[in-house]
Amino acid sequence: MRWKGERQSSNVEDRRGASAGSGGSGGPSRFPGGAVGGGGLGLILLVILSLVFSGGDLGSLLNGTEDGRLTEQTPSTERVTGTDEQKEFAAVVFAHLEDYWNQTFDDYDKSYQDPTLVLYSGSVSSACGTANSAVGPFYCPGDQKVYLDLSFQEELAQNFGATGDFAMAYVIAHEVGHHVQYELGISDQMARIRQRVSEKEYNQYSVRLELQADYLAGCFAKYLANETYNGKPILEAGDIEEAIYAANQIGDDTLQKQAQGYVVPDSFTHGTSSQRVAWFQRGYQYGDLEHGDTFSEASLDLN
Ligand SMILES: [Zn+2]
Repeated sequence: MRWKGERQSSNVEDRRGASAGSGGSGGPSRFPGGAVGGGGLGLILLVILSLVFSGGDLGSLLNGTEDGRLTEQTPSTERVTGTDEQKEFAAVVFAHLEDYWNQTFDDYDKSYQDPTLVLYSGSVSSACGTANSAVGPFYCPGDQKVYLDLSFQEELAQNFGATGDFAMAYVIAHEVGHHVQYELGISDQMARIRQRVSEKEYNQYSVRLELQADYLAGCFAKYLANETYNGKPILEAGDIEEAIYAANQIGDDTLQKQAQGYVVPDSFTHGTSSQRVAWFQRGYQYGDLEHGDTFSEASLDLN
């Protein structure tokens, strides 16, 4: 990806090297995933469509978070992770995401508030609790911030074999996808569902939420594919493949096989590798909100 010299987002909080301090008020939680019965899906589909097309209640906060397990940590001073270059890259990607999502919400006549990117090292306090970087990047709806330890890029490369700057751009775009879901009121719906279904059932909703974030990341990739900087395309050969490879490597089935040698589908919270790749590619194909309904009946068969 071509990015040097481009606008960097001003919505970046650099907390690297700071101690996490005491935890937030949200309490530890983990983003769930799961399978859903028929009736519930029809309902959520209608709700989402009405939110997407006519505007909805962006009201209350979800006190959970995504993509990781939050644990209480002893505050400590951490070494600074990530280089200046990695920080600048993340800030440029975040700026592109601001441009894209503001424009898209404008097209749908909806208002949009930019999220904040928090860079941290080791552990961090959020409105969703105190997290350490082992949870991976996450979005907290309680404060509308994306939390990222830049060392995740090395982890992607070393543990998952996903190299290249666009793998990281995909990860950031996925997290901002969760913010878009928050802005659309989908996070709020999920919080209410969570209170009335079993963990196993909620896992299936989580998978759908996560796949939708992958779809939204794909939409962003399509937008970038048509953007230029100083007359040159922003995307370079191989960028989209880097994102697809990363999506494949962090599918639940692939992760579980790697960690324990077998898979437990009921415990999936983010979707299989083929589902994640398929929804990213679908976003890259359509680049609109209409084709991103992962909550419809047959949506998980897509691969
Ligand atoms: Zn996610």
